[in-house]
Amino acid sequence: GRRLPRPTKTRILTVANQKGGVGKTTTTVNIAAALASAGLHVLVIDIDPQGNASTALGVPHHAEIDSIYDVLINDFPMSDVIQECPDIDHLYCAPATIHLAGAEIELVSLVAREQRLRRAIDEYVKFRQSNGEERLDFIFIDCPPSLGLLTVNAFCAANEVMIPIQCEYYALEGLSQLLKNIEMIQKHLNSDLTVSTILLTMYDGRTNLAAHVAADVREHFPKQVLRALIPRSVRISEAPSYQQTVMTYDPSSTGALSYLEAAAELAER
Ligand code: ADP
Ligand code: MG
Repeated sequence: GRRLPRPTKTRILTVANQKGGVGKTTTTVNIAAALASAGLHVLVIDIDPQGNASTALGVPHHAEIDSIYDVLINDFPMSDVIQECPDIDHLYCAPATIHLAGAEIELVSLVAREQRLRRAIDEYVKFRQSNGEERLDFIFIDCPPSLGLLTVNAFCAANEVMIPIQCEYYALEGLSQLLKNIEMIQKHLNSDLTVSTILLTMYDGRTNLAAHVAADVREHFPKQVLRALIPRSVRISEAPSYQQTVMTYDPSSTGALSYLEAAAELAER
């Protein structure tokens, strides 16, 4: 397969959009898998209590598994919870369990409640270094569909935000709220954060609507929108029920190829 250039330092991306069902998790796991299959070292941090990213990456995440919950709330080091994904080399996942559903409230009374993920990641990066392990190239954080403390933790830990946008009615609805929230984070909590990447997903080339939405988003965000479009594809939506990404489930499908293209663009930026 194709090899992609390694970034000069670890890039940390939060995949966010407070709307549910827009393709956050699908984008996270498939871009991560595409980058790892191109030779990069990639970690996915699942901070959605649903644990959909953990499922798609084939990583066990039942209630007894040590998870990102223990990192955020019980001060576990990240290295204690990270698992290797079964199908793709140097792809790792810090899974989410159902306990995370309570974390939103538990975090409120903790010290440095917005910075807990950032600190855990910093420590983990240092831990890998002192252990002589390969530097991570990308870390992706898969967010829940809300703007609560879990998502705030992700924004504080990241350098980049990646926003998946569904090519449907109301695509831009809620986007200005998201951008306002990101501005607040930039102002008060993390001045390094930029909205670097927008990915158009679930594109249905047969409809004028999808083309209009895509053109509209490109006009508003010419620098951020990736050229690659993710089509609406049954293979993409089937893969998670086999605990797989589309990259291994059907590597020659248009869905897999479009995620590879998006990943290559991202890596080459
Ligand atoms: P989110 O994480 O934003 O809630 P998901 O990634 O879970 O969204 O996607 C929502 C649903 O849409 C899932 O059932 C997923 O399998 C499906 N889906 C995502 N992307 C595509 C696509 N390109 N084509 C078809 N179905 C998709
Ligand atoms: Mg999700």
